[in-house]
Amino acid sequence: MTESVTKVSHFPVVIVGAGMVGAALACALQDENIDCLVLEAAQLNTNASWPADDVDPRVSALSLASQNLLNHIGAWSRIESMGRLQPYQNMYVWDGCGTGHIEFKASEQHLPNLGHILENKTITAALHQELKQRGIEVWSEVVLQDMSPKTDQTRQLYLADGRVISADLVVGADGANSKVRQLSGLPTREWDYPHHALVTRVALAQGHANTAWQRFTENGILAFLPLQSPANSSAASHCSIVWSLPALPAQAMQALSEADFCAALSKAFEGRLGQVLATDKRHVIPLRQRHAKQYIQPGLVLVGDAAHTIHPLAGQGVNLGFLDVAALVQTLASAKASNYDLGDMTLLTQHQQRRRTDNLRMMALMESFARLFGNQHPLLSLLRNQAMHTMQSLAPIKQHLAQEALGVGKHLPPLAQDVSRI
Ligand SMILES: Cc1cc2nc3c(=O)[nH]c(=O)nc-3n(C[C@H](O)[C@H](O)[C@H](O)COP(=O)(O)OP(=O)(O)OC[C@H]3O[C@@H](n4cnc5c(N)ncnc54)[C@H](O)[C@@H]3O)c2cc1C
Repeated sequence: MTESVTKVSHFPVVIVGAGMVGAALACALQDENIDCLVLEAAQLNTNASWPADDVDPRVSALSLASQNLLNHIGAWSRIESMGRLQPYQNMYVWDGCGTGHIEFKASEQHLPNLGHILENKTITAALHQELKQRGIEVWSEVVLQDMSPKTDQTRQLYLADGRVISADLVVGADGANSKVRQLSGLPTREWDYPHHALVTRVALAQGHANTAWQRFTENGILAFLPLQSPANSSAASHCSIVWSLPALPAQAMQALSEADFCAALSKAFEGRLGQVLATDKRHVIPLRQRHAKQYIQPGLVLVGDAAHTIHPLAGQGVNLGFLDVAALVQTLASAKASNYDLGDMTLLTQHQQRRRTDNLRMMALMESFARLFGNQHPLLSLLRNQAMHTMQSLAPIKQHLAQEALGVGKHLPPLAQDVSRI
């Protein structure tokens, strides 16, 4: 009887998922001379440009810490050259059911801006170009299907196309429905938010004033995030909107004619930026909070949305993921320098403690905002208006909140710090 022997290629690190988080991790590890293989279910997007009206409805508000990481690995200059980067200097948040508001200004932080709004596609294109240029081994259009438990030496991964590989360390960067997380049996704490997010790009009659706007309404949260306008547009400005609404109203808004939707949106936004003139295709995304109770096992770690997903109200999801990357690279670089196994639990435990504390703090903050503003009880409405007035007038509280959102208020790993200050 002939036995077929499957050849197993071995890699120090296998990253599953070349989304924003996995791709950034691969580049940053290469800078520490740690070799990895990246597995990605989809095709890589290495386009340097694409038509201005081909717009990704998913955008991210990138913090300064995320910008620093992307700068360190060479992706930021690629993003800048694509001409789709929109800095914002102000953030204005107000309670549509009261008088409370809070305003953050870059000038108060002595910074040129509070962050940048970018289509996700721009970020992944820059990162995928970087993967290609660096010659990092990427197997795209290949799906992780199964995984053996860790033996003393290694863990095997079985791909849908029949290939089998092994790794000292498997990184799950495969998003909210992570296969790595499922196969490793790492449990999560999760629940649906009572909201779906309606996202699209809109054209406006007034300029967006380089401001990220957010209105808390009676049944949801409506954000207008400033975007670059296409060169040939007659509109005064464009914004990406993220409108968190209960499921039925979100679907009803999606189904409206364009004219009716523009009118409803202008009204919900109190006409702050004039009339909404036109919209792109509307998408509705259910929102779910997930947090893995453990990010690690011997020889395995979860990063980005595979480890945690949060409400988009403060635009922190991928920013937390990039901080996972910066912290993990620091941990693995010191493991390598001390001749530790990359999947060593002592080191991974330190990494987990650091990141879980940070992620939990941000998730708790978002959760309390979502609950405080999701409740129309008159007493709570009074309380939150009072809270907004207090935050707006008390500089130290406002400063603390601003620094959390900017990603500058904590002890950051070197990769998330400003290159010029290291
Ligand atoms: C409406 C909305 C608005 C948001 N706004 C913001 C914002 O303003 N700022 C912000 O910071 N965050 C925001 N977020 C969150 C942000 O989009 C996510 O945190 C981010 O996309 C997560 O990136 P990731 O790389 O971890 O995962 P993903 O982007 O999900 O990437 C995972 C990758 O893994 C691949 N993959 C999956 N399974 C497999 C498999 N079995 N085998 C191989 N490959 C696999 C996928 O193809 C994908 O490429 C928002 C989210 C939503 C829903």
